[in-house]
Amino acid sequence: MASLEGPIRPGATQPMGPEVEDRDGPRDECGVFGIFAPGHEVSRLSYFALYALQHRGQESAGIAAADRGGHIITRRELGLVNQVFSENDLSTLAGELAIGHVRYSTTGSNAWENSQPVQRSVGTRGSQREVALAHNGNLINAVELHNELLAQGVTFSSTSDSEIIAALIATHPAERVEDAIAEVLPRLKGAFSTVVMTKDRVVAFRDPHGLRPLALGALPPSEPTHPGEPAGVTPMPPADTPTPPAGDPDGRVSEGTDRPEDRTVRYCVASESCAFDIIGAKYLRDVQPGEVVTLSEEGCSSKQVVQGARKAFCVFEYIYFARPDSRMNDQVLQVARGRMGELLWREAPVEADLVIAVPDSGNPAARGLARAAGLPQDDGFVKNRYVARTFIQPGQELRKHGLRLKFNPLPEVIAGKRLVVVDDSIVRGNTTRQIVQMLRDSGAAEVHMRISAPPIKHPCHYGIDMSTREEMIAHNRTTAEVAAELGCDSLHYLSLAGVYEAVRGTRATHCDACFTGEYPLAGSDGAAGKYSLEEDKVPTGPSLPLVRA
Ligand code: SF4
Repeated sequence: MASLEGPIRPGATQPMGPEVEDRDGPRDECGVFGIFAPGHEVSRLSYFALYALQHRGQESAGIAAADRGGHIITRRELGLVNQVFSENDLSTLAGELAIGHVRYSTTGSNAWENSQPVQRSVGTRGSQREVALAHNGNLINAVELHNELLAQGVTFSSTSDSEIIAALIATHPAERVEDAIAEVLPRLKGAFSTVVMTKDRVVAFRDPHGLRPLALGALPPSEPTHPGEPAGVTPMPPADTPTPPAGDPDGRVSEGTDRPEDRTVRYCVASESCAFDIIGAKYLRDVQPGEVVTLSEEGCSSKQVVQGARKAFCVFEYIYFARPDSRMNDQVLQVARGRMGELLWREAPVEADLVIAVPDSGNPAARGLARAAGLPQDDGFVKNRYVARTFIQPGQELRKHGLRLKFNPLPEVIAGKRLVVVDDSIVRGNTTRQIVQMLRDSGAAEVHMRISAPPIKHPCHYGIDMSTREEMIAHNRTTAEVAAELGCDSLHYLSLAGVYEAVRGTRATHCDACFTGEYPLAGSDGAAGKYSLEEDKVPTGPSLPLVRA
């Protein structure tokens, strides 16, 4: 969990205790949401959508909302979604359209400044229009764009690459925000699944490679026409459809209201489809790489701004980042992760008595492996589900128990058994080493680690904090050497071919650079890193580090 060192703004809730690491895995994800829905409580829907996306970012949360023609109001703060917003906040954020963001990044004292949505108002800092923006990803040409804007006299209130995108859109002279975005999008390099709102519309767009996910959903009218019949929605036409039908395509009318806005299908976008489930929306399809989708009173329209770029969807989303109940590229991730477990067994069977998962991220693959092996599966650990929310530091006496604050092993299940232990990934190896030791201390006869991802050896330049190469346990080590470091009897990582077989995809349309070192975007190796705007690199820029969404 990120250490939050800076001053907490008035009204903020002190974040969770920083000493208890949630996991030794990749970090620095974000989640975004956007909705245009007159007749609905958009801020409340945004709150619950962000609540479903909380796994993508736990450092800060924010919602921006507006009435058509009114002002955009933004509330953003450090902390979890349920710590940041009160009933009173949601009432203040009343409106017809909204966007939201959850963020996960260690940034020190400027953490609040880099929370989102970022907002730029008409006439300030060179802006032509008022926009709020929420972004998931990382621009690899952020320094270049930042310098260009500074030279034009555009000023910034944060050091986030998300504010660079907001500034490019807000200062663009095009009359319609969609047109401004269509011109800005091809200039951005890197990963960006983004939602932007003005006072009367929400516009979502995704980078031409589709590195980070973004899904489109529809919110049906609140009541069905005929009792007992669910309110339905008409599927969105495919990408690049100029003007899909507005309003309720089925002509259905809600009972008990004459307001036309209550009888209309509304649209929303989210990083993951699990955000739609919680608010009663229906997943329609993924926003296409290079596509701009506009949600407004006219319904939902789409324009394919960049065509034909090499697709590079992050393969780690299937393995770990996304929730198992989310759908991506027509895959329900729980099922894909189960297949990863089956393939792990096919690639590396072993004489064993019991399969256990490292909870919770190893659960689906452990089930798949146990199914394929015909071995019993049990809970070898009990997980404290609320450990990430502790406010009290463990202190010296408790710290020696290490990971027990999070996982407590069950000796009655483990003792004397030859165990197959399944987890989704290993980055630095600190957690895995402690897990192996805890299992041995609990009497395990053998510990065979099975990992449903290949060895992580390279950093991510597209929005994920993977540690440095030198910190990665698989860097410059063979699998046998890693196994010796971890103290396990055997270790097998799922092959890259196994990953693609499990997700029913190919390397040609995905990014797997953290495993292979083959970055799909030109210029990634020299990419703007997390601290790329440090003073010595950019004399005219701010001295604060550049952070990513
Ligand atoms: Fe995903 Fe790894 Fe590519 Fe980053 S480098 S986008 S984590 S596959």
